[in-house]
Amino acid sequence: MHVLRGQTLTFRDDPAIVGEEASNRHESEGAVAVTAAGLIAWSGPASELPSEYKDWPVTDYGQCLIVPGFIDAHLHFPQYRMIAAYGRDLLDWLNRYTFIEEQRYAEAEFAARAAPLFIDELLRNGITSCLAFSTIHPVALDALFSEAERRGMALISGKTMMDVNAPDALTDTPQSAYEESSALISKWHGRSRLHYAISPRFAVTSTEAQLEAVAALARENPDLVIQTHLSENRNEIEFVADRFPWSKDYTDVYDRYGLLREKAMFAHGIHLSGRELARLGESGSAIVHCPTSNNFLGSGHFRYAHTTRGEHPVKAGIGCDIGGGTSFSMLQTMRDAYTVSQHAGQRITAFDAFYLATLGNARLLGLDAQVGTLEPGMIADLAVLDPMTTPIMAERHALSQSLHDMLFALLIMGDDRAIRQTWVAGKESKPQDG
Ligand SMILES: [Zn+2]
Repeated sequence: MHVLRGQTLTFRDDPAIVGEEASNRHESEGAVAVTAAGLIAWSGPASELPSEYKDWPVTDYGQCLIVPGFIDAHLHFPQYRMIAAYGRDLLDWLNRYTFIEEQRYAEAEFAARAAPLFIDELLRNGITSCLAFSTIHPVALDALFSEAERRGMALISGKTMMDVNAPDALTDTPQSAYEESSALISKWHGRSRLHYAISPRFAVTSTEAQLEAVAALARENPDLVIQTHLSENRNEIEFVADRFPWSKDYTDVYDRYGLLREKAMFAHGIHLSGRELARLGESGSAIVHCPTSNNFLGSGHFRYAHTTRGEHPVKAGIGCDIGGGTSFSMLQTMRDAYTVSQHAGQRITAFDAFYLATLGNARLLGLDAQVGTLEPGMIADLAVLDPMTTPIMAERHALSQSLHDMLFALLIMGDDRAIRQTWVAGKESKPQDG
């Protein structure tokens, strides 16, 4: 048990709905009391720290900002080594790099070496939970879940399902996808802090027979997260229209197989029609905005305000989408969300961005009863951010006039160097150990 001191910031609700003032609670001299069991016992102004916590050991982070650990709502475990691979567009990049690299995860030993490195990188960036794709190989998912369990992390992942338009070594079948997924759900879902996600890669790489199998998994497991990709790139959309001529549009393919629902997470969703937004919205599905990836692959500019607050509002989260994304840093991801919104004539504030990366993503993934805020009773997954990481950031910080000003400069200028410390379930995380 101990007390962390520093600036504290936690969200109560979406700033776009309740307004910036009411959305968050910030203490310029705050404290968070963490129990021996790794739970938040109390948070608030340091001057009001209740007497029962006054004898607990203190870690004083000074001007640093203590926030709930970041939650990444979309990335790929087997792509972390092939970040920054030059590609013309999504489908070219998948065929030339991604599908080659993912084949290596058929080997349990390779996956077991990769998992700690991947998780170290998450923690170095203040990310304490994520929704990640794995590969089609059960051994790769076993390696990832085992490592996350060893670190005490809340991680959501699933075996990727693909049975067409990918190399033979990376395809399963409708039956094996169903059977292997079912076995992995029994083995991992609900164990420690781990959750299983039903994970068809996207409509391009599944036959109708496999989508039937995915539909059966979704029906049999109504509470599970579903993750896939949707409407990222124009060529991809045409390809899907050719493959499923009966569909009204791309979203309709997933809709036909019962995949639109609460905790269904659709990465990208850049080029959606009003009809598609309406169906996604009324079904409770969410779109995960992946701005560094969209910029890197030239996929298009996601319209945040149009999507979340337009005629047909849809819930949205945020993700780094490694390896199409260019950085594990949630700050860099927020920065690109801001620049994309500028190009798209939309508006994303620093409050919106920090909300999305904490409580916003926690809510979409059904994790908000355990993480995403600094409220008492929450598991103490925390990130400590230094707004004065570099000399120029320190100079800029000295000019900050408001909380928003400070957060905005931090997300524009900050990266992994700005993460002073990451805490998982009340313990300081250290590379390659629990
Ligand atoms: Zn992706």
